[in-house]
Amino acid sequence: MKKIFILGGTGSIGENVLSVIDSNVDKFELIGISAKDNTNKVQEIIHKYNPKYIYVDNATARKNIQKQENTKIIEDDEELFDIFHSNDIDIIVSAISGFSGIRSTIAAAKSGKKILLANKESVVVGGSLLMETVRKNNSELIPVDSEHNAIFQCLPETGSTKNVNKIIITASGGPFYGKNISELNNVGIQDALSHPNWKMGKKISIDSATLVNKCLELIEACYLFGMKESFFELVIHPESIIHSIVTYSDGSSICQMSNPDMRVPIANALSDNDRLSIPFNPLDFNNLKLSFESFPNDRIEIVQLAREAVREENSKAIFFNAANEVAVDNFLKNKISFNQIYEVILRTFDTKDMSKVNSLEEIFEIDKEARNISNMVIKSLT
Ligand code: NDP
Ligand code: MG
Repeated sequence: MKKIFILGGTGSIGENVLSVIDSNVDKFELIGISAKDNTNKVQEIIHKYNPKYIYVDNATARKNIQKQENTKIIEDDEELFDIFHSNDIDIIVSAISGFSGIRSTIAAAKSGKKILLANKESVVVGGSLLMETVRKNNSELIPVDSEHNAIFQCLPETGSTKNVNKIIITASGGPFYGKNISELNNVGIQDALSHPNWKMGKKISIDSATLVNKCLELIEACYLFGMKESFFELVIHPESIIHSIVTYSDGSSICQMSNPDMRVPIANALSDNDRLSIPFNPLDFNNLKLSFESFPNDRIEIVQLAREAVREENSKAIFFNAANEVAVDNFLKNKISFNQIYEVILRTFDTKDMSKVNSLEEIFEIDKEARNISNMVIKSLT
């Protein structure tokens, strides 16, 4: 029985991991979750799974948790990170949303355990530091993001990228597929949150609407697979059936296909190369139409920033991520328009020379600086 701890257990990825556990109760057990402050959901999870460990980041919310007899309420980060090293845990799922996930993802990387990585922002800001921490501690990092899990499935079992010629990361195009940026000036929050193919948390839903999600995924892929950005191409595939494609040097292209359902990559990531069973909606190949088109020209500028950030392997990626998070947060609070998200990223990115990043402390410092600049940019816009 493998014991799973979910960082961000009350979120959309958390829910999908719990569903895969439900379908495989003979193989997996929920040992604990962390959350920010959603005590209702935490309470439901305690009631259903009776996990041993609960960590709620918000101290006031934490006090309101009604625990069961064997539940241990963890009081701080350090206590949580110590538990990662114990025999109580076999698998850690990193599914906190945004920059907030970096500290626990790095702590998980130090544990020598298997990590299912959903929190792409921690790869974007942590890049080499995270990958180095995984290597040094003999941890295993398996991607859960559907495109990266698809690439993982299309590579040989060793993970070798030796004969790879190109990797195509597919993008649905989001709720504004087919529209130019100039048509998006007045889109509302609900329009932007309404993804046609996936049901996800708010932050990633907005990232999917701006297509900034693909920029983050491009950076994520470079670090996860140890490849230069020039190997990756972004292509629009509105049906979200092919989750990514690996082209080899002999001309063969291998892809992974499924209906859009995060339980599929999660089941793969949990499987240790032995396929699990989950209830899934099979593809109907008698009625399947797949289409592909170029990434929209008017979003290329933002993709170029992501390419530059990962090429230079410096603090630019932290600036990119922070500017996006601040802009998305302000859009969701109705303080800036949808298109101003791009403006905040572009203007924050342009502000200074960037430095190399060597530690978690530096990542936090640079993130703070970038957030201050992004907030000043927003003040100047409003
Ligand atoms: P959600 O917003 O649905 O969930 C976020 C989770 O993180 C919640 O459990 C939340 O707790 C928790 N959380 C937030 N801040 C903290 C904190 N400071 N300490 C502890 N827990 C915290 O996000 P998603 O599940 O959609 O996304 C999670 C990550 O996975 C993101 O990085 C996203 O990009 C990535 N991802 C998601 C996909 C999806 O289908 N949803 C697909 C591919 C990648 P609370 O509920 O209490 O607020
Ligand atoms: Mg994805």
